Amino acid sequence: MAKPTILTVDDDPMVLAAITRDLRERYGSSHRLVRASSGAEALGVLAELVLRDRPVALIVSDQRMPGMTGVEMLAQAREHAPGAKLLLLTAYADTDVAITAINDIGLDHYLLKPWEPPDERLYPVVDDLLEDWRRNNPDHSSDVRVVGHRWSERSHEVKVFLARNHIPYRWYDVDRDVEGARLAGLADASATELPLVLVPDGDTLRAPSSLDVASALGLRTTADQPLYDLCIVGGGPAGLAAAVYGASEGLSTVIVERQAPGGQAGQSAAIENYLGFPKGLSGADLTHRAVAQVSRFGAEMVLARDVTGLQTRGPVKAVLIDDGGEIEARAVIIATGVSYRRLEAPGLEPLTGRGAYYGATASEASQCEGDDVYVVGAANSAGQATLNLARFARRVVMVVRGSSLDESMSSYLVDRIKATANIEVRLRSEVVAARGEGHLEHITLRDRDAGGQEEVPTSWLFVFIGASPRTDWVGDDILRDDKGFVITGADLATVSDRVPWPLARAPFTLETSLPGVFAAGDVRLDSMKRVASAVGEGAMAVSFVHGYLATM
Ligand SMILES: Cc1cc2nc3c(=O)[nH]c(=O)nc-3n(C[C@H](O)[C@H](O)[C@H](O)COP(=O)(O)OP(=O)(O)OC[C@H]3O[C@@H](n4cnc5c(N)ncnc54)[C@H](O)[C@@H]3O)c2cc1C
Repeated sequence: MAKPTILTVDDDPMVLAAITRDLRERYGSSHRLVRASSGAEALGVLAELVLRDRPVALIVSDQRMPGMTGVEMLAQAREHAPGAKLLLLTAYADTDVAITAINDIGLDHYLLKPWEPPDERLYPVVDDLLEDWRRNNPDHSSDVRVVGHRWSERSHEVKVFLARNHIPYRWYDVDRDVEGARLAGLADASATELPLVLVPDGDTLRAPSSLDVASALGLRTTADQPLYDLCIVGGGPAGLAAAVYGASEGLSTVIVERQAPGGQAGQSAAIENYLGFPKGLSGADLTHRAVAQVSRFGAEMVLARDVTGLQTRGPVKAVLIDDGGEIEARAVIIATGVSYRRLEAPGLEPLTGRGAYYGATASEASQCEGDDVYVVGAANSAGQATLNLARFARRVVMVVRGSSLDESMSSYLVDRIKATANIEVRLRSEVVAARGEGHLEHITLRDRDAGGQEEVPTSWLFVFIGASPRTDWVGDDILRDDKGFVITGADLATVSDRVPWPLARAPFTLETSLPGVFAAGDVRLDSMKRVASAVGEGAMAVSFVHGYLATM
């Protein structure tokens, strides 16, 4: 496998030599360092690398160069190497240019010259950028191999599970890659045994469940202890924040997550409104950092397990797990968020996971290279996905029921969508049917004003049409509204006729109608549905857990 390239660009030979030397010192064993002394030369080098199918992980360019500035070059470089991370070296006077470039060309970072000492100023930035690139380009850095059919739902689920758990993998399409066919042949795998997952120690998993994959890769799928101070259900931003605060404040803490940590936020290509990250950060990056923090403080995370019920046993609660197991805890935080609503269109259901998807991960985006892609929805999640898909697809068509994007999407996203040449927005439109043999091949669009219908060919449909909580498992002791959102704190007074509050003290804020069980994040009635508020509520819930435990 070719080493990923780091390209350095500067017309000043001293600076070019210094940055190349510092980068080679730390990354030389795992990356190829290539240098160019002008913007034009850099673009030529990039074109050559792309032709030879060499992955480009990072481009580091000085801003001030004759002929073509760093930002101008990086803007064009994006087209050659869409996934490469872009780092601009600037003088203090160019700071404004660099900040503008974050929005205009998707610059990933800028660094003021000189970058001495590199251990403090250069390497932490480049470590982060390369780690992020590796996560988005697992094909170039992985020993786990997945062999399957491009349009198989199970293959898709396995790939999503690996990607969302930050496990790099190489994907082989059994129909299109010689190596895929060879591996399937070597394993003597029948069609029903695909996908194969080949893990580094030599085990071959055949059509495995997420739990099989998790177990084979050594992810934790069972809890260590029978009893915890705190059990958190759901590993999205609210659950992860609760785990960090719970464990760091001395509570024995476990999270149970049915798929992978990160929740909805983990699917976001760029979270731009989270405090402290002016360039924004990907959901994968945020999750990766949060999971490291959770484990540093010693909270346990049990993955690939669905929580199916909750029981009260005297002073403890039992959280019931899908395999028949259970975890007991003195307090529980429900942080199960919301899941995508399904799009009702004849023919679509059997094609889900076979070209029609709810949400989109980075790996799907890169697989759409050169294709026409349709996105349904008009909220921020649809906007972010559209911009991400447009980096790879030939054309992205947004199908929007309303008459304007401005009604439902943040203006910074609307502006970027309007400025992106290969995005088309079809207002007052909806998807009313889908068809395909084995995978999505056509969708039917309806004009909501004129009533006319048009069938268009496409293999990719991504749906983002809002979400609702799935909270049936919590049982009748925990009051929910008619949509399933969990009612907490002072709001319980308005529904006390249904389940009277049993204690003399008032419920804590974020406490549900069952004392000792709290709710945080999107699953809670009237929550803000933002990463920051979910994180805030997760942290707050822990302080109420302390309050509750003190009363026991
Ligand atoms: C594509 C996309 C982009 C977004 N972009 C932004 C943005 O830029 N800025 C912003 O502020 N917000 C954004 N949001 C919204 C934000 O991600 C959510 O508000 C936030 O993730 C809510 O966090 P949460 O922890 O409450 O729930 P979730 O993120 O929904 O996490 C809930 C977790 O619980 C797990 N779970 C559910 N049921 C069970 C069960 N029974 N057993 C075990 N585990 C279970 C789920 O698998 C999931 O991992 C975006 C959302 C999406 C979908």
